[in-house]
Amino acid sequence: CSAALPPIVAHGSAALQRRVVPPVLAGEKIAALCITEPGGGSDVAALKTSAVRDGDHYVVSGEKTFITSGMRADFLTVAVRTDPANKGAGGISLLVIDGDTPGLARSELKKMGWWCSDTAHLRFDRCRVPVANLVGAEGEGFKAIMHNFNGERLTMAAMACSYGQACTEEALAWARERKTFGEPLAQRQVIRHKLVDMAARVEAARALVYDLAYREQHGLGARTDLVARTCLAKVLATQAMQFCADQAVQIMGGMGFMRGTKSERLYREAKVMMIGGGSEEIMKDLAARQFGV
Ligand SMILES: Cc1cc2nc3c(=O)[nH]c(=O)nc-3n(C[C@H](O)[C@H](O)[C@H](O)COP(=O)(O)OP(=O)(O)OC[C@H]3O[C@@H](n4cnc5c(N)ncnc54)[C@H](O)[C@@H]3O)c2cc1C
Repeated sequence: CSAALPPIVAHGSAALQRRVVPPVLAGEKIAALCITEPGGGSDVAALKTSAVRDGDHYVVSGEKTFITSGMRADFLTVAVRTDPANKGAGGISLLVIDGDTPGLARSELKKMGWWCSDTAHLRFDRCRVPVANLVGAEGEGFKAIMHNFNGERLTMAAMACSYGQACTEEALAWARERKTFGEPLAQRQVIRHKLVDMAARVEAARALVYDLAYREQHGLGARTDLVARTCLAKVLATQAMQFCADQAVQIMGGMGFMRGTKSERLYREAKVMMIGGGSEEIMKDLAARQFGV
């Protein structure tokens, strides 16, 4: 729900907010954000799912994929093309589609990590959606999606710091306890250096995340600067997480490969943190554009 609700809170009608937001925040209902399509996720402006106006409804047809909580979602915040003549960002709108809408079909996808949430492929076959479910003005969806990404990316950066820390702590505890050749692993310089490298990367990433959170909270700096810093934070923090997960599994040896250790799980969670919510390559490209490169 963390990514699907903010556009409704920011741009939805009062009636839509009243119907959707309280039950999702209370944990009684689930919301999913549906942007990515089989044809691509990075190039959001190229999305194809169509919403054609028919009286006081839109008729929605198309497909979305890799949708978190898509199997169980009661409300789907869906990016659609409401203006077929406009093939770019300006033709995109956001619609809330109820999970029980006729014509919606869901299939579950199996994945490497993130097992605590389901991930779905969704098909919309002439789904009739009330115009009242439009989030914000028609054609304003792209801006709302991009704005929403900033919050999601900052959250993912903060999560990645904690995951990196969890790997570091687990590896440190193991290294203190595990003896090889008569000495604890933690006494070996090569292992000590690994642990310090892990801690250093987490601390550096966390400093960037805290600095960004402070700037966001106090409205410091131009929007372009904040967007660039968000990209840097997500890239640095998810790289730190991946490094720490890799090093932790290595320090723990065979045990690091076993189900039940945190590091084994986080090793499998690292890639989606570097792909979902805007991939590393897209983050770097976006940051470069904010810098005027
Ligand atoms: C577990 C999981 C959950 C997800 N949940 C959701 C969700 O809830 N809602 C949702 O809408 N989406 C979701 N996604 C989709 C995710 O946002 C996309 O996977 C992501 O945006 C990348 O899109 P793509 O997979 O289509 O890759 P593509 O856009 O096809 O890109 C493939 C690769 O090429 C790189 N690339 C693309 N363009 C360029 C370029 N111009 N220059 C250099 N490199 C480039 C990308 O960085 C990537 O490495 C989820 C994905 C996963 C794995």
